[in-house]
Amino acid sequence: PFQFDIHQPHTELPPLQTSLNDKPAALYRFENEKEESVACARWVRERAREGKTIGIVVPEMERYRALLHRELLAELAPGAVLPGRDREPPFNISLGTPLASEPMIKTALSLLTPGGPTIPLPLFLEILKSPFLPTGRDSLAETEHLEGDLIRNNPAAIHLDLFSPRDEERYPAAGVLVRAWRQFLETREKKSPGEWARQFTQLLDRLGWPTAKEEFTLNSREYQAYEAWKKCLDDLASLTSVTREMFRKTSADALAHITDEKTFQVKTREQPIQVVGLLESAGMAFDHLWVLSCQADCLPPLPNPNPFLPRPLQKKARIPHSSAQRELEFSEKRIHALVQSCTEIAFSYPASIDGMERNLSPLLRSLDLPESLFPQVPSHRIKDRMADSCPLESWTDPITLSPTEDERRYFQSEQFRGGSGLLQSQSLCPFQAFASHRLNAADHSMEDIDFGARERGILVHRALELFWDRIRSHENLLALKSDARLDATLRDVIRQALARYPSLLQKQPRFIALEEDRLATLLRNWLERESIRSPFKVKEKELHLRWIIGGLNLSLRIDRIDGVERDNLILIDYKTGASQSRSSSTWFEERPREPQLPLYACALTPTPSAIAFAQVKKDKPQWIAVADPSLPLAEMNPRSFEKDTDCATWGELVEYWRTRLEALAGQFREGHLSIDPVDQDQTCRNCGFNTLCRIHELSDQWNPVEDDL
Ligand code: SF4
Repeated sequence: PFQFDIHQPHTELPPLQTSLNDKPAALYRFENEKEESVACARWVRERAREGKTIGIVVPEMERYRALLHRELLAELAPGAVLPGRDREPPFNISLGTPLASEPMIKTALSLLTPGGPTIPLPLFLEILKSPFLPTGRDSLAETEHLEGDLIRNNPAAIHLDLFSPRDEERYPAAGVLVRAWRQFLETREKKSPGEWARQFTQLLDRLGWPTAKEEFTLNSREYQAYEAWKKCLDDLASLTSVTREMFRKTSADALAHITDEKTFQVKTREQPIQVVGLLESAGMAFDHLWVLSCQADCLPPLPNPNPFLPRPLQKKARIPHSSAQRELEFSEKRIHALVQSCTEIAFSYPASIDGMERNLSPLLRSLDLPESLFPQVPSHRIKDRMADSCPLESWTDPITLSPTEDERRYFQSEQFRGGSGLLQSQSLCPFQAFASHRLNAADHSMEDIDFGARERGILVHRALELFWDRIRSHENLLALKSDARLDATLRDVIRQALARYPSLLQKQPRFIALEEDRLATLLRNWLERESIRSPFKVKEKELHLRWIIGGLNLSLRIDRIDGVERDNLILIDYKTGASQSRSSSTWFEERPREPQLPLYACALTPTPSAIAFAQVKKDKPQWIAVADPSLPLAEMNPRSFEKDTDCATWGELVEYWRTRLEALAGQFREGHLSIDPVDQDQTCRNCGFNTLCRIHELSDQWNPVEDDL
C-alpha cells in the first residue's frame, strides 16, 4: 500500500539523476530468477581476470542467495562438485545463513530434538547416513543394508525401543547409535538449561558426532560451524539464571531456535568477486557490475517500518525502511552511485517469480536502456564441458548378455530365487527381468504410507489362508453362515493374521481396530460370493513347489487349489489391488502380463481344469476365470478361449501357454535384455528401474528436467 503509486507501470517518477555516460551497459529480462542467476554466473566468468573486481548487487538477497551460490560455484569452480574438493569458493556472499541449516548442525539437532523414541523413517535414514556420524562415515555399507531392510518392511516410523538385540548384532554401528540415542530420548527428568547443554555435548560425543578432537578432520567451514555451535550451547546455558528447570525436548527446541536465529557467515579471504545487497554495496567500486532482481517490487524495496517505534517519528528521522519515500530516495541514490562506481554495468530482472508476473522497476525505465538479448555464453559446468570436449559417440545397447556358466548353474539350482514374477517381468519388459534377477537391483523408493496396498494384500492372503485352514469346504462355509458363526470366525482369523505381522502396524492400536473392521467387511462380502458357488473342497493353500521350465528352476507359490466335482481342480489366485491390465484376455496375449496362473496350470499334475483370479475388492468382488468348457462353472462366468487362441480344447490351451512360457524362460536364460516395455505408460510407471534402463533418455521427446539445465 505504501508503494502503490510508485509501482504502477505508468506512474510518472521524477527522472533519475543518473547518466550512463556511454559506459557499456545492458538490461536483460529472463524467464525466472534461475535463468537470471545462470546468466549472471556465466557473465561473471567471462570477465573474471586477475586484477579485475566484479560486483553482483542483489536487492532481494534472501531469494537469490542459494541460487547464486550454486551457479557461481558451477561456473567458477566446477570441480567443487567432485567429492573431497571443498576449496574456498572464489567469491564472497555477504548475507549469511542460519547456523541451523549447516549440515553438521542439522544432524546434531535431528538427534536432540525428537519428542520421543519414535522417529519417522526418512529422518531416521537421514541421520544414519549423515557423514557426521560413524554409521554414515565409517560403516556406510552396513547402513545401506539396513536401509534396504527398513524400506522393504515399509514402516512409517522406527520405534527405537523395538530395535532388537538381533538387529543390533546385524547392524553393530547402528546398534551403538540406537542404544545411546534411545536412552537419551527416554530421559524424563527436568534439568537446568546449563545441565542440558552439558548432556547434549556428552550425547553427541558418545554418538561420534565430530568435535574439534584430533580424530576428526573438519574443514574450515565445519570448524567454524562447530565453534558457532559451542557459542549457541553457551547461550542455552546462560538461560539457567532466568528460567526454571525444563524437560529435554523443551531445552533442545530452545537450542534449535538459538541456532536458527544465529546467522552463520563463513570467514573467507577477501575475493575479487563480491555478492552484496543494495545496502552493503555503499562505498564499493568494481570493474564490472551486475545488478539482479531489478523488478518493481524490489527496487525500491517495500517499506518495513519498525513496529515498536511511532511511525511518524521514524519517517521524520528518515530511519531505513520507514517509508516508501525514504526507500525510493535511497534506491535512487544507490543506483546512481552504482552506475558511477564501475566501468561496465548490467541490470536484469525475472519476468516471473513463483508464477507471478514481474515488471521492470520504474526507476530503471528512466535510464532509457533498451532490453537486450543475453548473448550465448557456453556453460562451464563439469557435465557440459565433458559432453562438449569430444564428439559424441553412437552406442547401440546389446540386446543380449549371455549368462556365465555359474549363472546358468544357478538358474537350474534349488537356490534360484526366480518364480512367476521373473516370467512376468520378462514378459512385461526383458530389461526389468534382467535388472531384478541378474543384477539383483531393487527399487528402494520409500512409500508415503506405512500400510499400503502391499501390506493390505498380505493380510487378506493370510486371513483367507487361516480361514480355509479351519473351514475347508463349501459345505462347512454354509453351515458356518447358518449358525451365525461366520463373523466370529472371521474376526478370529483376522486377529491371528494381524498378530503375525507386528512389524506392519507397530504401536498403532486404534488403527489395528479400524483395519480389523475393514477386513471383516471385505472378507464377509467376498465369502458371500464363495457361498453361492457349487460345492468345493479347499485342497491346498499357499502351496509351495519348484518346477523347471526352459532351463529355469522356478519357485512357485499357489494361493489356493479347490477340488470340485469329478476330481476337477481349480487354481485360485487372490487379487486385492487395482490393476488396469487384469482381465482374462491378458492370458491369451503374445506377451501375457499376468502369466502366473497359466504357469501354475502347466506345472501342476494332474492339470487343473480352471484358473481364476479371486478379486477380493470392496467395490467389485468378482471372479475372472478361464475353464475347461466341460466343467460347469457358471458362477465364475469363465471366458471362452477358442476365439482368442485358436485352441479347440482345454488341453490345447495349456499347451499354448506352455509354449509361450517356455519361450519367455528361454529368453531370460539366453540373456535377452532389450528395453522393450509391453506398454510404456503403465509398465514403466510401475517399474522402479527407469534410471537404470534410461528409457526416457532413449525417447525422442526426452527433455532433461529443469534442475539439470
Ligand atoms: S522402466 Fe520401463 S523400460 Fe525401464 S526396465 Fe522398467 S519397464 Fe523396462
